[in-house]
Amino acid sequence: MSQIEPQPGIMEISPYVGGKSRIDGMTNIIKLSSNENPFGPSDAVKDAIVRAAHEVHRYPSTDHIELRSAIAEVHGVKVERIICGVGSDEILQMLAQAYAGPGDEVIYTEHGFSMYPILAHAVGATPVQVPEQERVVDVDSILAACTDRTRLIFIANPANPTSTMIGLSEIERLAEGIPAGAILVLDGAYAEFVEGYDGGAKLVEMRDNVVMTRTFSKLYGLGGMRVGWGYAPVEIIAVLDRIRQPFNLSTVALAAAEAAVRDTRYVEHCRSENARLRVWLAEALGEHGVPCDTSMANFVLARFGSREEAEACDQFLQKQGIIVRRVAGYGLPNALRITVGDEPSCRRVAHCIGLFKAGER
Ligand code: PMP
Repeated sequence: MSQIEPQPGIMEISPYVGGKSRIDGMTNIIKLSSNENPFGPSDAVKDAIVRAAHEVHRYPSTDHIELRSAIAEVHGVKVERIICGVGSDEILQMLAQAYAGPGDEVIYTEHGFSMYPILAHAVGATPVQVPEQERVVDVDSILAACTDRTRLIFIANPANPTSTMIGLSEIERLAEGIPAGAILVLDGAYAEFVEGYDGGAKLVEMRDNVVMTRTFSKLYGLGGMRVGWGYAPVEIIAVLDRIRQPFNLSTVALAAAEAAVRDTRYVEHCRSENARLRVWLAEALGEHGVPCDTSMANFVLARFGSREEAEACDQFLQKQGIIVRRVAGYGLPNALRITVGDEPSCRRVAHCIGLFKAGER
């Protein structure tokens, strides 16, 4: 028998399952399974990518100062508190690596993003799942689950796949109530879709136990480029910087993200189109007898009468060339998560769900 064994926890991981992107034998599909921006990156971003192509024989910046400065300027945050990563996934991973290990506990919530338990297992820590209240994060349940071994608490606000969020006063109460030695991680992958919400940036500035993560993968249309950032007290930044690979972000990715954050007109256009269409889509589904919670993100969670109905609808949509996301793995077997696409895609998916509900299968 081989004596080669992985570190404790690794084999507990159920590998991450991404949104489906193909239907066998079909072209021209409508992909609404991965919460991507239907409009893609702006022209300014594409130009920056082409320009950066001429520089790829050089190593990229290690301190990401241009991108961090652009983020600081546009978001009104402090450059020394920003760290950039290969998607926000890498920031979450660095937090787990730096702050949790065997014997430690990592809290996440009932329908929380599936990377949280994966990251906990990857460092040998124990993931602790706590209940939500009707698909909304419940601060009291999290506080009740805290122990002196709690190191990290991951919540996405707005949350994936529920699309719901909790208010800043609840987040403050949570940050105030967690044990000393624990960090509250506010995953802001969808924060940009909420008008006037800073993702918790001000709270990070006021406290020593809160970290916020953000991404270029959603609103900015750069999922394929892999850029995210974290906002944290400088002491935590100094820790994460010690384990960050010096060249974690490519020249092309850095240039694309900087152009994206500076192209505020385009970002505003995408944000307002999403806000308009998510309301339209939820109402259209509601009229077909498929309720959704009010979405604060760029997707809706469509709830069906049963697991069988949700699965049958998913099958029907695939036959029409539409891919949405099943979320049974998130404890939501009756639901399908549908990304808010462009207007024709929203109309098409709503129309097809209408046909399905009318009995055409
Ligand atoms: N957090 C949440 C809640 C997400 O939905 C995602 C993307 N699926 C991420 C983090 C990671 O995104 P990225 O690594 O592309 O920034």
